[in-house]
Parts: sequence; C-alpha cells; structure tokens
Amino acid sequence: MTTGTRESFGITFDFQGRVALVTGASRGIGARVAELLGRSNARVLINYFEHGEQAEQVAAAIRQAGGEARVFHADVSEPVEVAALFAHLQELWGEMHFLVNNAGARFDAITHSITDEKWEQCQRVNLRSVFLVTREALKMMTSSRFGRIVSVSSIAGTIGSFGQSNYAAAKAGISALMKSIALEYGPKNIRANTVIPGIIETDMTADMKGDFKESVLAQIPLRRFGHPEEVAYPICFLLTEAASYINGATIHINGGGLRL
Ligand code: NAP
Repeated sequence: MTTGTRESFGITFDFQGRVALVTGASRGIGARVAELLGRSNARVLINYFEHGEQAEQVAAAIRQAGGEARVFHADVSEPVEVAALFAHLQELWGEMHFLVNNAGARFDAITHSITDEKWEQCQRVNLRSVFLVTREALKMMTSSRFGRIVSVSSIAGTIGSFGQSNYAAAKAGISALMKSIALEYGPKNIRANTVIPGIIETDMTADMKGDFKESVLAQIPLRRFGHPEEVAYPICFLLTEAASYINGATIHINGGGLRL
C-alpha cells in the first residue's frame, strides 16, 4: 500500500451483503468513502446536494468496479428531504447496516459578524443533519439489531478555529451526539464513532494558500495535508468487525498536527 495516494484503493474490505448510506458523497471525503464501500462490495446509496453529475460519476466508478450504487438528492439538513431519502433507501434495499454522516459545509465569518440566519444555517447543515439522518437510521438499525455509524467532525471542533466559531461549535456537537448514541444503542448492537480530520485536500480547503498555508503545514509533523482516501480508510475500518470493540470513540486523522 502506498500511503496517501490513490493507489491505496488497491486495498478493500469485505462488506458483501451490507447496505450503506453516505451523506455528501458527490465530492471529497464522502466520494472516496462511497467508492471504497462500493469496491468492498457493499450496496451504496450516494447522497448529494448540489452536484448530481459528480455523484453519478462516483456511482459509475463503483459500477465499473463491479459494485452496486445508487444516487439520491437530498438536503440532509431538512427533515422532509431526509424522510424522502430514507423512504427511497427502504424501497431500494429494505435494510441498512452502515451510515456515514459526512455532509458538511463552512459558513466562515468572525463571530461578531455572524447573523442569526448564518448561525442557524451552519448548525442545520453540520449538526442538525447528523441528528436527522442518524435518527432515521436508528429506526432501521434498531429493528434489525445491527448498525455501524461513523460521523465526520473536524479538528475545528476540538481546538477551535479562527473565523469558524459557528462551524467549530457544530462539529464539536457531533462527537457528543455520537458518544450519547454509543451509550443508548450499544446494547442493541449499534456502534457509533466519530472521525476528526485535520486539513484534508478537498474543495473545502482549496482556498488555503500562501503564507497561511505554509504556517499550517509547518505545524504538521508529516509536512503535508491529508488525502481524502486517508480519511476514507479509517472510516471504513470503523465499520468492520475488526473494530468491534470501538464504540463512542473519536479518532483523530491529522498527520500528528494535533498535540492534546
Ligand atoms: P467538500 O469536498 O466540500 O464536500 C462536501 C460534501 O457535502 C459534498 O458532497 C456536498 O454535496 C455535501 N453537502 C453539503 N451540504 C449538504 C447538504 N445540505 N445536504 C447533503 N449534502 C451536502 O468537503 P470535504 O472536505 O470532503 O468534507 C467532508 C466532511 O469532512 C465535512 O463534514 C467537513 O466538514 C469534514 N471535514 C473536512 C476537512 C477538510 O480539511 N477537508 C477537515 C475536517 C472535517 P454537493 O457537492 O452535492 O452539494
């Protein structure tokens, strides 16, 4: 395995018979998670919001590799759309084993200039979405007494982030939500964990440039940002039975850039 390159997709897991939903899987980390699940023989429902064409490309890549994938549009911050997403999943496959809460977005502004609307929007997209989707997933998982949930938080939610207090607050909420779900649903054979990426090279971080980028890189012992695959692999590991005793955990993926 060549760490940190796309060749790392040469390694797969055994997810035969499993059904997975990945939110925000049209691009970035979510797209790589969906691909890895699909190549590992899970049936994958790829959720997207604005980039349907890219979501279709992710599904096509999975099918080309012999897997099964479908695409569904839903704004996961809206209860009605989440209900439609789950109605579709129920109709498609009638069961669900894996949930990856990945959808997220930044709404950067320094705290005193954040309007009520922008605050609410940021909480809706980054935190309420995780609650809404997980609540529906738990209904399906509880009835089958099997479920594996991984949610994507952010280093911002652990150490704070200049100009991102709204995003940091929402992301911090995700790990508390997952830890609580781990307590409530562990007895029903449902595990819930959180991954906490540092800086990963996706559209979300494409605006990091110049001196600021260099100063951030200097704080990362590996002297580089992460690749989406390097988050996708730990997520998929947490879904496997090799991670059977990991529940309510938060896993940092940041090249050693966070010294707690
Ligand atoms: P990205 O490339 O910007 O992709 C974001 C994904 O979320 C897209 O697929 C987007 O769908 C989807 N999305 C956004 N709002 C949505 C909504 N309301 N409903 C459904 N889907 C929605 O971001 P990324 O870097 O891969 O980030 C993935 C996750 O990792 C996010 O939760 C992010 O906060 C977290 N994270 C990223 C980093 C990083 O450095 N990149 C670091 C820490 C945490 P469309 O494109 O279809 O609109």
